[in-house]
Amino acid sequence: MFEKVLIANRGEIALRIQRACRELGVKTVAVHSEADREAKYVRLADESVCIGPASSALSYLNIPAIISAAEVTGADAIHPGYGFLAENADFAERVEKSGYIFIGPRAETIRLMGDKISAKAAMEEAGVPVVPGSGGALGDDPEKIHEMAAKIGLPVIIKASAGGGGRGMRIVHEAAELVNAVAMTRGEAKAAFGDDTVYMEKFLTQPRHIEIQVMADQHGNAVFLGERDCSMQRRHQKVIEEAPAPGLPTDLRNRIGERCAEACRRIGYRGAGTFEFLYENGEFFFIEMNTRIQVEHPVTEEITGVDLVQEQLRVAAGEILSVTQSDIVLHGHAIECRINAEDPFSFVPSPGRVTQFHTPGGPGIRVDSHMYQNCTVPPHYDSLIAKIIAHGDTRAQAMARMRIALSEMVVEGIKTNIPLHQVLLADEGFMAGGTSIHYLEQKLARERGTGGGH
Ligand code: ADP
Repeated sequence: MFEKVLIANRGEIALRIQRACRELGVKTVAVHSEADREAKYVRLADESVCIGPASSALSYLNIPAIISAAEVTGADAIHPGYGFLAENADFAERVEKSGYIFIGPRAETIRLMGDKISAKAAMEEAGVPVVPGSGGALGDDPEKIHEMAAKIGLPVIIKASAGGGGRGMRIVHEAAELVNAVAMTRGEAKAAFGDDTVYMEKFLTQPRHIEIQVMADQHGNAVFLGERDCSMQRRHQKVIEEAPAPGLPTDLRNRIGERCAEACRRIGYRGAGTFEFLYENGEFFFIEMNTRIQVEHPVTEEITGVDLVQEQLRVAAGEILSVTQSDIVLHGHAIECRINAEDPFSFVPSPGRVTQFHTPGGPGIRVDSHMYQNCTVPPHYDSLIAKIIAHGDTRAQAMARMRIALSEMVVEGIKTNIPLHQVLLADEGFMAGGTSIHYLEQKLARERGTGGGH
């Protein structure tokens, strides 16, 4: 095992990784911006290094500053968390070339999965079902674009191969809009990602977002740890996640999970990863792979009893997986609410000083948060301030525990989306389970009295 790990991230995930390190007896180095000097995880870390001013470009995305922090502190490995540099293949490469272990997949795997066309092709080859589509980059010939759309069937979605964060996508309902939509998406992709490669796929109208958690070691072993349903989204951002997915038959779970684990073995995947699928009419369609730990990993931890972050550390250190597929048994149901510093209904960010902060507790409740009374939520970063995770024997029990937890949680001085979560935990559609990715936006639109989500 490592002696010292540098955590190249901030917020709740920095604290989460630190806790995993401590349990394994590993020392930690926190790197932070000037805005995060007083953060809880900075104080709790064995060592800390300020790597730049508040702006992420100059701190959490500052590769040379992070590598020199590893040098001065003598860390063995770097954990990138999620967001920031977690899926930056150049960063992974620089870390390893500088003599440190990158806690994540090999740079070439990150690169392969970072390009959606190559990721889809690799997955299709490995036997994972993908959304039907152009199967490669689109050209500019209007006739070919029309032919492709006719073959796939409208509506279609034009997507940037280098896209991410819900950007670089355009839905096309009418053939007359096709050529223009391709040109527009291409232009946006060029501007946003420096790469104008676009492709076409079938637009699924009522899918759920279901993703499979995998973990692989460097000795050819790979397992899947069930699925998460993350269909409750706004602007492609997840709001609530749960595991298992309501109503998903066991044989379907096992079949898709085994395909994902097998794909990991084939591509020599290492570490934690997530295969994201759209799920419609009992069929899975791969959309992308995330090559890192995800925000919603705790729901999987709650139902499997596997500490995914400790497992990431173990496999990065060269150990074999601590679990085999038959050890992974799902217990009960877990739900996560992402608590953001924002207005619950206008979604306008609400940074500032937190004057009161009380977290809920009791059976089945876990809170992952770096907040404390009188801390400040800086305006420079994403607005996630806490995750409440409720675990129960059944989905109904997990929901009941979540309702109590939400009612106990006190955050004052800033606005949070707790009231939105309370509305959703009382929503009949959500309580029934199995809602589509458009459900939340349609509900919000209805309540605002304006029409349509997508
Ligand atoms: P990003 O990398 O930007 O997150 P994804 O490919 O993961 O992009 O897609 C983000 C979201 O866009 C999905 O969760 C889904 O809501 C929607 N989406 C993507 N592809 C399709 C599709 N073929 N049909 C319907 N919705 C889609």
